[in-house]
Amino acid sequence: MEKPIRCPSCRNLVPSGYFMCPYCGTDLRLIIRLRMRLRLKMKDIIKRMRDVVMKPKSTMQEIVAVPDYLGPSLITLVLALFLSMRYVIISSSLGLIIGLYPFLVILFLNVLIAMSIWFIISAIINWIFRLFGGTQTFDQTAAAIGYSLVPIVFGVFLGTLTLIGNPMSGGIAIAILIPFVIWSVILCSIALYYASNLPLITCVLASILAFLILAFFFFVMS
Ligand SMILES: [Zn+2]
Repeated sequence: MEKPIRCPSCRNLVPSGYFMCPYCGTDLRLIIRLRMRLRLKMKDIIKRMRDVVMKPKSTMQEIVAVPDYLGPSLITLVLALFLSMRYVIISSSLGLIIGLYPFLVILFLNVLIAMSIWFIISAIINWIFRLFGGTQTFDQTAAAIGYSLVPIVFGVFLGTLTLIGNPMSGGIAIAILIPFVIWSVILCSIALYYASNLPLITCVLASILAFLILAFFFFVMS
């Protein structure tokens, strides 16, 4: 038996075999087509990362309908790369030149930490949602949180750029990050809303909590 599809528009569960939602008439063919593929292609993943910025609502609907781990893994990898660059820039301003191999070690550690944090936060949020009676699955929650990190990755990149000219401008780097964090919280709220059956306010609060935990980890690490 095929799993029923949660309509991305009205959020009703639609049994398999329907090409249109019987409740609201939404076209379900894209979701069905994506599900038929054994796995998403790299092209689909890159398109998701771009579209989550360009057209967040429909993209998040698609992501939670057919969640993947590859996209969020790539996003955390890029985030880890920028955080490592940031470390190198700050160290070099203190007269500490970091060679290639130590840099690769730092990068590896950052990738490990970033991916663990993504998993831990996804597990916590998924668990809280289950407590409130949420019907979403872990892979939906993990994809929702993972793809929501895209604006933060931008923000960290821009913040890192400001450090190049002036390594002591850590305050500016954090100030730049704030609007991007809010953007990420909004994306995450949209994604969790379409992944679950819970009211929007619960999704917004859960998203805020998710990124507060992220900020906490970030603060402890730096
Ligand atoms: Zn519907």
